[in-house]
Amino acid sequence: MASILREVTETILTLAKGFRVTFRNMLGKTVTENYPETPVTFQPRYRGIHVLQRDEQGLEKCVGCFLCAAACPANCIYIEAAENTDAARISAGERYAKVYNIDYSRCIFCGYCVEACPTDAITHGHGFELATYDINSLLYRKEQLLQPEPHKKPTNA
Ligand code: SF4
Ligand code: SF4
Repeated sequence: MASILREVTETILTLAKGFRVTFRNMLGKTVTENYPETPVTFQPRYRGIHVLQRDEQGLEKCVGCFLCAAACPANCIYIEAAENTDAARISAGERYAKVYNIDYSRCIFCGYCVEACPTDAITHGHGFELATYDINSLLYRKEQLLQPEPHKKPTNA
């Protein structure tokens, strides 16, 4: 008899615990985003589509060192580096990334590339609208990732 009473008590307590969570969420503030009708709220550290940054002079911060590509566990960064010249200076370092591709069909948004970059050239933005029927369009090129020059309008939101 004692064990039946204990079981009944435990069951009631468990149900009460469960319903407490249910009612707390039912009566609490909704966190559902009405996307795309209203803009999505991002946390500051959200890891979205990468952005290749520029410095204060508008030069590209990437110096073509390949450290991000080496750190990438999904092997989805492809870089071709080239030398800066006095006539055509692209970055403040000796080299710059002539080609910088990220394959978003492979990227797992782990952030290792961002952590590995010695010049803070690559960061995560808040872009997230990557869905597509064409896998080839998930290969993002430098032109899509690069922060626009101050006087130019962005090509990629
Ligand atoms: S976020 Fe991770 S998987 Fe994506 S490019 Fe960077 S290192 Fe590679
Ligand atoms: S993004 Fe950073 S780590 Fe990657 S090649 Fe450029 S400077 Fe090096």
